[in-house]
Amino acid sequence: MPKVFQCRRCGACCLGRGGARLDEAGARAAAALLNLDEAAFRRLYLEPGTPPWDIGQDQAGYCRLRQAGGLCRIHRQKPRTCRLWPFLPQLLARESAFLSAKAACPGFRAGVTWAEFKAAGEFAD
Ligand code: SF4
Ligand code: SF4
Repeated sequence: MPKVFQCRRCGACCLGRGGARLDEAGARAAAALLNLDEAAFRRLYLEPGTPPWDIGQDQAGYCRLRQAGGLCRIHRQKPRTCRLWPFLPQLLARESAFLSAKAACPGFRAGVTWAEFKAAGEFAD
């Protein structure tokens, strides 16, 4: 059985507010990965406020942690939502959410059904 999902590294999912957030531990780990102190990391990449912090967007609306070419600057420490994608609880729970995500992301195998996706999701995380 071919995989239901294979990321194409297009970076399209890093456009707009997708709920990517970092809590204090996540911000600390991401800052360390980039060799920045936490305050500098927060100033450069995160929205102000209390944790968990939303990641800011650049002028084009992309996540500030997206690099040119589409790769994530903090790939090894990226937020849980980004790590789990596409096997998010809401896509596993609602076919309409799965179909919307499938239409927006070229990583889904063509023709993959929600049943196949859910079966694959049982082993994800
Ligand atoms: S939109 Fe889909 S294929 Fe493109 S980077 Fe995001 S997860 Fe990968
Ligand atoms: S944290 Fe990384 S994977 Fe998540 S939206 Fe930002 S650039 Fe994309």
